[in-house]
Amino acid sequence: MNDTASSEDDALIDAIERFLAGEVRPVAIALEQADEYPKAIVEQMRDMGLFGAIIPEAYGGLGLSAQTYARLIETIAAEWMSLSGIINSHLIMASAVLRFGTEAQKEYFLPRFARAELRGGIALTEPDCGTDLQAIRTVARREGEHYLVNGAKTWITNGLHGNCFALLVKTDPKADPRHRGMSLFIAEKGPGFSVPRKLPKLGYRGIDTVEMLFQDYRIPAERLVGGVEGRGLQQILGGLELGRINVAARGVGVARSAYEEALSYSQQRKTFGKPICEHQAIQLKLADMATRVQAARLLVDSAARAYDAGRRCDLEAGMAKLFATEAAMENAAESLRIHGAYGYSREVRVERLYRDAPLLAIGEGTNEMQRLIIARRLLDAAAPRQQ
Ligand SMILES: Cc1cc2nc3c(=O)[nH]c(=O)nc-3n(C[C@H](O)[C@H](O)[C@H](O)COP(=O)(O)OP(=O)(O)OC[C@H]3O[C@@H](n4cnc5c(N)ncnc54)[C@H](O)[C@@H]3O)c2cc1C
Repeated sequence: MNDTASSEDDALIDAIERFLAGEVRPVAIALEQADEYPKAIVEQMRDMGLFGAIIPEAYGGLGLSAQTYARLIETIAAEWMSLSGIINSHLIMASAVLRFGTEAQKEYFLPRFARAELRGGIALTEPDCGTDLQAIRTVARREGEHYLVNGAKTWITNGLHGNCFALLVKTDPKADPRHRGMSLFIAEKGPGFSVPRKLPKLGYRGIDTVEMLFQDYRIPAERLVGGVEGRGLQQILGGLELGRINVAARGVGVARSAYEEALSYSQQRKTFGKPICEHQAIQLKLADMATRVQAARLLVDSAARAYDAGRRCDLEAGMAKLFATEAAMENAAESLRIHGAYGYSREVRVERLYRDAPLLAIGEGTNEMQRLIIARRLLDAAAPRQQ
């Protein structure tokens, strides 16, 4: 399927699979339940270069294509979804710099991102708005060669352990249309930038998701992405295209893992004298689950190909994100049912998949919004041409 993959890409995926089986699987359940940050695992991910996965080699990264990156993320998420989040929002920030930063910004930030010397994520959501990002209220006011930032962000992943974030602000709160007053900064932690609280979550634990506060936080003007005000929304939405492909790939990973757990359990568990996989009702579920995994993977691959070809891919990425993340939720629920009471136990992987999956329908644009994006693109394409 991944016809652009080199033998190096395949070797990387093999190495990741070995790392996950050897280093992650034995500890994931305990770390997740304790909501403990997987520090040693993150250090190994850094050593493998994963924080630079999509950063070009010229800037010190691995320079993976979106297709290979999607395979990597599927593989990681199939083992423990939280680990994919540690690199994903970091790489959305990197992608915004790569696509829209000045040459000086690329030279300064990208090697540091790739080495994970600077690492973090994206700070967009606020207490009063997530989907309607144009309603944000965090303001950056210019003062000479600096901006002074005031406001609050919430639900920011990697916020505690990360040190650098793509920060979406208003530089002109009165602009009309509102997006013309929005700008994106690469903000390193410093005086005036604090993290008051880590948020407790249903799933996606181990990884830190936090509230952030900006009180007269001074940021140099040279940290404004692209060096121009008023393009922040467009810049972060550009970065989020890769983010959607990533979330879709996570969906494939979770859906696959749920299916594989169900398949294996159904071959061991016996009722009425035979393994439950021999009951037709269970077979129907397994068939639907495997079909969802395969369909989701093909949609992700199609979106990643479009991204790699430099084509606009909001339609493909939206479809992949919608289908793959719904597949993750459906497969997790079906796998839990197939496991019977054991699916409800805190000691098996499937209950974690069941708690992790719903985030995928919310993050990087809710699935309701994906449907609206898809419909808009379809209607645009079908609009009658003006004579
Ligand atoms: C674990 C976790 C990690 C996160 N990490 C980050 C992060 O790192 N950085 C970051 O910036 N944010 C992050 N978020 C926030 C996430 O991006 C937002 O939750 C998401 O964008 C939705 O925003 P909201 O929660 O404010 O929902 P709202 O925007 O309030 O939406 C509420 C509901 O209304 C629906 N809705 C809204 N508008 C419409 C419409 N026009 N038509 C139809 N339906 C609509 C939505 O689909 C949703 O069902 C994270 C969230 C979670 C749970």
